Amino acid sequence: MLYRLKNDFRLSIITLLGSCALLGITPFAIYRFAQGDIIAAIVDALILLSVCSVLAYAWISGDTRRSGLIMAIIACSGGLVVLSLQGTIGLFWLYPCFITSFFLTSSRLALLINTLTVFVLSLFQIGGIEYEHLISFITTAIVVSACAYVFSLRNESQRRRLEQLATLDPLTGVKNRRAMEEELLRAVATHERNDLSYGLAILDLDHFKRVNDEHGHAVGDQVLIECVDIISRHIRKSDRLFRFGGEEFVLLLPGVDDNGMRSVIRNLHKVLREELKSPSGAVTASYGLALLQSDENADQWMERADNALYQAKENGRDQIIVAPQPQLS
Ligand code: GH3
Ligand code: MG
Ligand code: MG
Repeated sequence: MLYRLKNDFRLSIITLLGSCALLGITPFAIYRFAQGDIIAAIVDALILLSVCSVLAYAWISGDTRRSGLIMAIIACSGGLVVLSLQGTIGLFWLYPCFITSFFLTSSRLALLINTLTVFVLSLFQIGGIEYEHLISFITTAIVVSACAYVFSLRNESQRRRLEQLATLDPLTGVKNRRAMEEELLRAVATHERNDLSYGLAILDLDHFKRVNDEHGHAVGDQVLIECVDIISRHIRKSDRLFRFGGEEFVLLLPGVDDNGMRSVIRNLHKVLREELKSPSGAVTASYGLALLQSDENADQWMERADNALYQAKENGRDQIIVAPQPQLS
């Protein structure tokens, strides 16, 4: 639980706001009920119920995108209800709602929700606010939302940039080993849940050191870029290519059976052998393949493909070896 709160910013904000709302509104709901103000008590109870539902949904489904959006809508609608009950003083509650919208959902949706809230408030004259106060509120609400919008846009673009830096290989532009490890874990989870089959191929260029030694590192780099380009042109959209390290690549093939996996890699083997060149001639590769087995984890799956690759190198390179199925104990 702590791990999820620490690693999922939106979930932690939803939980924080949800808990504050529960702690803040519950005493009011009880007080209003005790005072016989049934309508206000019902409104509070409804807000509490929606907040609890969103909290439970976020924690159970992990879909913080949708729950964040719903929470932002509940917060702003709740703000309007408070305004209608308290009049002008209720306007103060709308400022934190406007700011938190940007924590709960995307900057565009947050701006839309805030704008709609101000629009509804002005159109229906909620809370019976005097014209002068309304103008001041709209102006300050625009300033607050515009600043939060700019800050949130900047935050989003920096997060995207960081994500790219952390997951992309700078030389070839394909995903790196870190991204691969995450996708393999996801593949194993999907296989367990939906029984979708997955093939894995590790590809290692043969005698690549010679290319560097004979023609220099820059030419070696160019061969690696070419290699990625050729592979990318010959795989399906759903297949995933990763640079595992150095001159080793990993291909994750969703939805293939043993025959499908072999035929994809046989085709790739042929194409690469024909098209991938260094100044001294063709550059070949060796391949280790493994089909994901039930009850196998990502490390065991990877290890089988790696052993098959080792076998391909031992057998003389430029060939494909498929890992045998693990022995059931
Ligand atoms: P094998 O057939 O056994 O795989 O032989 P190999 O020479 O390909 O394998 P080895 O592991 O001995 O050498 C890998 C080489 O790949 C050594 C290293 O200089 C080169 N290499 C790794 N990363 C890069 C890179 O980013 N750019 C370039 N140009 N070379 C790289
Ligand atoms: Mg090699
Ligand atoms: Mg290698």
